[in-house]
Amino acid sequence: MGEDWIQEHRIGEPKPIFRITARCIACGRPGLEIVEYLYEVPYFGKIILGRGKCKYCGYKYSDVRMAEASDPKKIIVRVEGEKQLRYLLVKSAMATVYIREKGYAMTPGPASTGFITTVEGILYRFQEAIAAACRGREEEEPCRSHIQWIREAIEGRRSFTLVICDPEGTSKVHGEDVEETSLDEECKGQA
Ligand SMILES: [Zn+2]
Repeated sequence: MGEDWIQEHRIGEPKPIFRITARCIACGRPGLEIVEYLYEVPYFGKIILGRGKCKYCGYKYSDVRMAEASDPKKIIVRVEGEKQLRYLLVKSAMATVYIREKGYAMTPGPASTGFITTVEGILYRFQEAIAAACRGREEEEPCRSHIQWIREAIEGRRSFTLVICDPEGTSKVHGEDVEETSLDEECKGQA
């Protein structure tokens, strides 16, 4: 998944559209050379992939977003099982991802980047975060319940609502019955 998916499914050659040298997110020196490319891919259409490397520390940067921004938006996906777990999505850098029923949130930080993945891929990221937060307390509550819930969700045995709040409107979920609406209370300070 991720960047590989874009490379494998691209239609035609990518076009470099933007080149910049930025301050490195890892070492702080002005050596992060970023090139953005415009790709055309199935399901999403035009997508921008930014790639870069710091010439001082070797830090690698990659970012994905939809080429055409829309208004700030909230995307809602009702996940009932394996079908929705396979939905492809672009999560842009400034978007926050929630699992509504569990109160889980993946919030953007200063080093956040966008990526392309599936709903299942999002669950793996939450699983990693839960594992890190629960290290050494795996058998205690509430850790035990969280670890079990996320594992069952990945196996398609849990229903839940995935919510993406995107103030820049450059995220997208490809699938049936995906709802898009404007930012609201659930998106908290982002509206
Ligand atoms: Zn660096």
